[in-house]
Amino acid sequence: MSRTVLIILLIIGSYLFGATKLVEQKWEKGKTFLNFLEDHKIPLKLYYNLDTGDKELTSEIIAGTRYQILQDDNGSIEQALIPVGEELQIHIGKDNGKYFVNLLPIIYETKHKILETEIETSPYNDIIKSTNNYLLANEFIQSYKNSINFKRDIRKGDQLVVIYTQKVRLGRQLGNPVIEASMIETRGVKHYIYRYKGRYYNEKGKELEGFFLAQPCRYTRISDRFTYKRWHPILHRYRAHLGIDFAAPIGTPVHAAGDGRVIFAGRKGGYGNCVIMRHAGGYKTLYGHLRRFARGIRRGRYVKKGKTIGYVGSTGLSTGPHLHFGLYKNNHAINPASTIKVAKSILRGKTKKDFLTYVKKYNKEIQVAINEKATPKKEEAFAFYMDVKRAKIQSQN
Ligand SMILES: [Zn+2]
Repeated sequence: MSRTVLIILLIIGSYLFGATKLVEQKWEKGKTFLNFLEDHKIPLKLYYNLDTGDKELTSEIIAGTRYQILQDDNGSIEQALIPVGEELQIHIGKDNGKYFVNLLPIIYETKHKILETEIETSPYNDIIKSTNNYLLANEFIQSYKNSINFKRDIRKGDQLVVIYTQKVRLGRQLGNPVIEASMIETRGVKHYIYRYKGRYYNEKGKELEGFFLAQPCRYTRISDRFTYKRWHPILHRYRAHLGIDFAAPIGTPVHAAGDGRVIFAGRKGGYGNCVIMRHAGGYKTLYGHLRRFARGIRRGRYVKKGKTIGYVGSTGLSTGPHLHFGLYKNNHAINPASTIKVAKSILRGKTKKDFLTYVKKYNKEIQVAINEKATPKKEEAFAFYMDVKRAKIQSQN
């Protein structure tokens, strides 16, 4: 931990002394980690010496990610920090003139925030106006999508409250905000939503429709789970795996986990033959290591949930036949396990009792927010992801 702080200080320190130059850049579309090393004349063995898992992870650098490099007078890299996922970053450094690469945690704070506002133009615009948080506005709209008709029911002066948490790094937003509870008033009626165990419910404990994924293939076992950041006690270093690995025999059909459009079908770094789909609500799914694609699966094709899009293989960096299945929300990798689900649920028994206690606590907080007219400090733009405009377009689909 303290090492990262040191590195950040080092960057800032060197910057102040002017011996070196700190540059912030955006990761270009289609760029690979190998391209990056090539561009900066860093030995490619830095990549080739990584183990399979870490090589795969370098395929996870998302276009638009902001990363920092520290250059010397000749323009060659002294240090680079490139975020992957929400909790780790690839660190390139120099030790006695020789480059090395490792993974370091991203240091962030989690802030609990409360917004209370009255509708001026629309919930979407007003949330952005008060918080500067596009993803929060997007998430709010998505969460009420199936219970409120925003165009028909909302009037100027209606009230809304959002209680949420946001990761913050160096004063800027990091990753997706999480709405814990919210309220919106329409025609004098207050509608509440609570996030409980990762899903949205109304005040009666009935789950509200969200984004449900179908199982992407029949598998024999899960060979690797999702993790943003894991300390490996034997290797003494951090690991991450931004998806679920389903081990399955070669040739097992792989199905689209939801309705959506194929936005990529081709080779993608360590993921070998790979399909990426875009779904409603800012979601994407990724299917890696495919043996081959199903007939007709190409960019631009609209596909229904359950349709075969390819077949399990072992292409790219893979130790055995499996499907690497990734899920992204607003271009951030999230754990697919919480989203793969068969049907909506209604809370009952002990769980329902616990839920109602939870509801009471948040209702109190919402009431306090209304009384105090809580408005959080406006956010600064994203620490690493600048794709806010795209998030906005998706929310309007
Ligand atoms: Zn994997």
